Amino acid sequence: MELGWSTSDLEFREMIRAEISALVPADIRTRVENIQHLKKEDYQRWQTILAERNWATPAWPPEYGGPGWSPLRRIFFEEACFLAGAPRPIPHINMIGPVLQAFGTEAQKERFLPGIPSLTEWWCQGYSEPSSGSDLASLRTAAVRDGDHYIVNGQKTWTSWAHWADYMFCLVRTSDAGRPQEGITFLLIDMSTPGVTVRPIYSLDGAHDLNDVFLQDVRVPVENVVLRENEGWTVAKYLLNAERTEIAGLGQTKRLLQYAERLAAGQRRDGVTLADHPEFRSRLARIRIDLKAHEWTVMRVMAAGHGDASAPSASVLKICGTDLLERTSDLLMDLGGPAALAYDPAVHLGRANGAAPYGHALNGTAATYLEFRKAGIIGGTTEIQKTLIYKDAAARWGTS
Ligand SMILES: Cc1cc2nc3c(=O)[nH]c(=O)nc-3n(C[C@H](O)[C@H](O)[C@H](O)COP(=O)(O)OP(=O)(O)OC[C@H]3O[C@@H](n4cnc5c(N)ncnc54)[C@H](O)[C@@H]3O)c2cc1C
Repeated sequence: MELGWSTSDLEFREMIRAEISALVPADIRTRVENIQHLKKEDYQRWQTILAERNWATPAWPPEYGGPGWSPLRRIFFEEACFLAGAPRPIPHINMIGPVLQAFGTEAQKERFLPGIPSLTEWWCQGYSEPSSGSDLASLRTAAVRDGDHYIVNGQKTWTSWAHWADYMFCLVRTSDAGRPQEGITFLLIDMSTPGVTVRPIYSLDGAHDLNDVFLQDVRVPVENVVLRENEGWTVAKYLLNAERTEIAGLGQTKRLLQYAERLAAGQRRDGVTLADHPEFRSRLARIRIDLKAHEWTVMRVMAAGHGDASAPSASVLKICGTDLLERTSDLLMDLGGPAALAYDPAVHLGRANGAAPYGHALNGTAATYLEFRKAGIIGGTTEIQKTLIYKDAAARWGTS
């Protein structure tokens, strides 16, 4: 496997850093650098800027309008975005986009792919249910055929951004025969259909990203099935691998580290700034070394799989990425000390400007710490990833 950086790769890296830095709108950059929440319009504005340059869907192949970058160049692009204070990439672009490209009909591709790059149509993921998270195949939201429609009834939960979404890609039960995985169908649901109700779930920092979605007698056209009825598990697994690779996200950890370094420069202990304090420097170095190792593993896995990690590699990347995110947010809390607890939600959540307790730098440190506890749950918990790795190893080499 060739991972060498050619001169043209290095030129690309310089080019993309300069371009992205010049493109990020100042108001968005300020909010991102202060770890404040962004609005839907911020994400749409940024994606539109990228789409004008054909950079909105870095992982899509050229035949679907992607830039055709190698895995290395995609990492350089992501790095340029985080360094410049750009919004983080919306994960759904690299989940529903590649799913439609791999499994969708020509009509589905024509209808849905154009709305994804600039986020003119927003998607949400309807997998989890109140009693079906880790054990996803036990899901019970039912779709019953009625002529050329399905009638869908059930509840989805933890649905990120459902309140912003135009469409939900959803797993529904269409059969009880055979193994639970064999009766699942992957369905695209228009969120404006009568019978769809979205209710907020507020997280510990007061943010509204998550939702319950109730589906009552929702009529969905049969042509919105992706692949075929009862074959949704194949699609679901393909998408989950993409999701886990996304959650391995290097950019978020790098951004948090950058934020930690800024904080450290402004805090003093034992007569020196924390940035010069041996204990802080040693913890930072440890994280940086592990992050570099993780980055190279991501590149290696992506290069081997032509850009898509598959299980169990996706699970390994997810566990390592989660660990780094959690350790970096631990570091942030320690840096802030007691002052890290001061919190003005209105400023952190982007609902108000102005002074926050102890200035912007520390506002939201505790909220950020609490928020990143989610990393080990979202997209499949750490325990489940470990089980997937074990099962793969046992199948290859036996259990002894
Ligand atoms: C911030 C956030 C955003 C999310 N966004 C979405 C979204 O947009 N769409 C969506 O569909 N879902 C979403 N989810 C849901 C997420 O996928 C589930 O929370 C996750 O799959 C775990 O399921 P659960 O919450 O039901 O926990 P459970 O499955 O009930 O697990 C509870 C605990 O038991 C452990 N456990 C369960 N089974 C086993 C086992 N067999 N072996 C060992 N340990 C086990 C788990 O590791 C966990 O610690 C989101 C979750 C979070 C936190």
